[in-house]
Amino acid sequence: MSGLAARAKDEAVARRGILFVVSSPSGAGKTTLTRTLIEKENNLNLSVSVTTRARRPSEIDGVHYRFISMRHFEAMRAGDELLEWAEVHGNCYGTPREPVEQALAAGRDMLFDIDWQGTQQIYQRMRSDVVSVFVLPPSAAELKARLERRAEDSEEIIARRLRNAAQEIPHWTEYDYVLINCDLHESFAQLRAILTAERLKRIMHSDDLETRVAKLLADLRQIAP
Ligand code: 5GP
Repeated sequence: MSGLAARAKDEAVARRGILFVVSSPSGAGKTTLTRTLIEKENNLNLSVSVTTRARRPSEIDGVHYRFISMRHFEAMRAGDELLEWAEVHGNCYGTPREPVEQALAAGRDMLFDIDWQGTQQIYQRMRSDVVSVFVLPPSAAELKARLERRAEDSEEIIARRLRNAAQEIPHWTEYDYVLINCDLHESFAQLRAILTAERLKRIMHSDDLETRVAKLLADLRQIAP
């Protein structure tokens, strides 16, 4: 890090972390968008969910999900270890609470790839910390084609995901932003722009900024009484 960059970092205004929630029907491109955002952005961690679903060949345990048994899932739920949970496509998914609370307190932003049910639960608990984005596919035909191209799920699972899309899409109105993912590059730029703007907005409301502006004005009065 250059001297100038290090100084800018030291002088960065402290703020609470953002819970950046991205939802979409399966196959709308959300996973590609969110994984790319994690790679490119500093200070943004992915919330790794637990799930009872079977691991896909391309997935790594502990990276994409923590794959756990139903019994383990129920124990986590009973122990209040999950910030939210839902049954999606016949499997259970949940967000471990502790990493989220740690990130928020440390001013780190957290990215959630969760469905509308989970989003509603996080809204209820921490609305002012949440920024939510719903990703829509450009068309039904394109959604089907994308699920088929992924070639990791059986025909029956693809059919089920398409039926579920019809249940999920009406929830777009509950989100802060909606992206229509016609072009991955464009959608990625839009998603990143949302995060950047929301980070700046939160700095506006931090106590740290008020103190800094007060000092700036006091210094100015000294320089130009
Ligand atoms: P998939 O099985 O395709 O990875 O995910 C299926 C759906 O479950 C996606 O819509 C995904 O966003 C959602 N999902 C993944 N993790 C969680 C979670 O922890 N909580 C909730 N509510 N939904 C999740």
